[in-house]
Amino acid sequence: MFKTLRVVILLGVLLVVAVNAYQDHHHNWTQPVYVALYPVNVDGSPEVASYIHALSDKDFKEIEGYLNTQSKKYGQNVHFYYRLGDEVKALPPVVPKNSGVISAMMWSLKFRYYAHKNATDVGVPTNLRLFLQYHHTDKRILTETSTALQNGRIGVVNLFASGDKTTNNNVVIAHESLHGFGATDKYNLANGIPNYPDGYANPAQNPLYPQKYAELMAVHIPTSETKFVMARALNQTMIGELTAKEIGWVQDK
Ligand SMILES: [Zn+2]
Repeated sequence: MFKTLRVVILLGVLLVVAVNAYQDHHHNWTQPVYVALYPVNVDGSPEVASYIHALSDKDFKEIEGYLNTQSKKYGQNVHFYYRLGDEVKALPPVVPKNSGVISAMMWSLKFRYYAHKNATDVGVPTNLRLFLQYHHTDKRILTETSTALQNGRIGVVNLFASGDKTTNNNVVIAHESLHGFGATDKYNLANGIPNYPDGYANPAQNPLYPQKYAELMAVHIPTSETKFVMARALNQTMIGELTAKEIGWVQDK
C-alpha cells in the first residue's frame, strides 16, 4: 500500500515536470506574454544606481510594439508586456566562459536557484524573467555573457546604464527574450559574422550587400561577406523565418 502511494506520488511529480517542460517548449501565442525585468547594478557605481532608479516600464515599451509588428508578418498578433520588477542586490552566477557540459549544467542549476530566490512578484504571472545587469559605460561588455534559458524561462542580460544606450539595450533584451522561447543565435559566435541565409534580414536581396537590416538573432547587419555593423536600434532589425519557426510563430510544413 505504502509502496503504491510512493509510486503514485513519484509519477505525479514526473507528470508536473513533463507538463512544465512541454509548456516551456510550446508557448501559446494567443495568450499575453509577461516578461519580468529585474535590474542589477553590477559594478555598484552611483551612476548605474541613478540610472536604475530612473527606469520605468516606459523604457521597454518599444520592444512590445516591435514584437507585435514582427509577429503580424507571420499571421500572429502577439502581445508582450515588459514589467520592471525590484532591483536585485545579489549578482547572478557568472556565465561560464568555456562551454563544457558540466560547467554549463552547474551554472544552469545555480542560476535557476538564484532566479527562484530573487525574482519578486510583479503583479502578474510571468512567462519569462530576465535579470538586467547594468554596467558603467566605460566598461566593455562581452556579448557572450548574456544568455537566456528556454527551460525555466530565465535569462541574464548585460546592458549599459546610459540614456543614449536605451535603444541599443532594447535590441539585446528582445534578442534574449526570443532565446527564452527557443530561438537560436544566427551568427558565428567566434567572429560575429551572420549566417547566410538564416542570419540575413533579406537573403534574397540583389545585390546581396550591403544589407539594410539585421536579423534579430544575428544582431549584426552584413555589409559584405566578412564585414558587419551592430544593429543600434530595433528599427534596424527584423525577425527572419527560421527564428519565427523556432519560436512557434509559423508551423513547419
Ligand atoms: Zn544570442
